Amino acid sequence: MKPVVNAMTIDVEDYFQVSAFDGYAPRHRWDGFESRVCANTDRLLAIFDAMKVSGTFFVLGWVAERYPELVRRIAAQGHEIASHGYAHRLVYDLTRAAFRDDVKRSKALLEEAAGVPVLGYRAPSFSVTPRSLWALDILIEEGFAYDASIFPIHHDRYGIPLSPRAPYLLEREQGVLIEAPGSAVRIGPMNIPVGGGGYFRLLPYRWTHWGISRINDREERPVIFYLHPWEIDPAQPRLPAGRLSRLRHYRNLDQTEPRLRQLLQDFRFGPLRQILKPLGASRAATPVGSEPLPYCW
Ligand SMILES: [Zn+2]
Repeated sequence: MKPVVNAMTIDVEDYFQVSAFDGYAPRHRWDGFESRVCANTDRLLAIFDAMKVSGTFFVLGWVAERYPELVRRIAAQGHEIASHGYAHRLVYDLTRAAFRDDVKRSKALLEEAAGVPVLGYRAPSFSVTPRSLWALDILIEEGFAYDASIFPIHHDRYGIPLSPRAPYLLEREQGVLIEAPGSAVRIGPMNIPVGGGGYFRLLPYRWTHWGISRINDREERPVIFYLHPWEIDPAQPRLPAGRLSRLRHYRNLDQTEPRLRQLLQDFRFGPLRQILKPLGASRAATPVGSEPLPYCW
């Protein structure tokens, strides 16, 4: 096993809450769907317990409101609790006031359920883009220490392609925020995503193994891996979404769990907060006003 400790992160949401199904499973109908998030998250907890791995769980406020005991079980097993927002709304579709309400509500629900401070946030579908960078200032004002919502790639729904691939500090008037971007390898002029989700499930495992090894060995830094509880649930009810969404969501669901077990054998993982600690410690040494993002806001 390699010496670099990578971040294991889970976005805790149910199968009908993913952005691609917005038109088929509107929020006012969510309570009518069969909920499978507790059983799937418990299965992940059992896998992590058996492999002695701890990670960061970005839990949706809507889930924490209905299943606070699930949040407590995650925290009791030594994992970090972080926020995935309340209602899984894309940040760039929200007004600033609506975004503030959404993150405030989720933070309060999670902190009440787990009894620990919530310092990390990941936006639904990585929806902090050049259009919604204002969200980072609101996260600072609402007491978050880090954000994990920016993917430095081209994608049809998200991404800031020219932004840094390694974690960095954002110095703002409101304070400081650590940005922990989605992981990508640099190949020629392109950043290619490597840290989980659809890329882990749709592409062969050897792609993930190669990409993580490359970042761990050549760049000597961790990868931020991400996964959803519904990705290890091949028996989940099928929703009548469009062809591309169905392909992205349902393909290889039966392969995620064995691949995850292989991944946990091949690489070391820990909570994201722990991996970002050195960056937090270096705050005082960073000159104020250093702005690594290729956009101003
Ligand atoms: Zn999500």
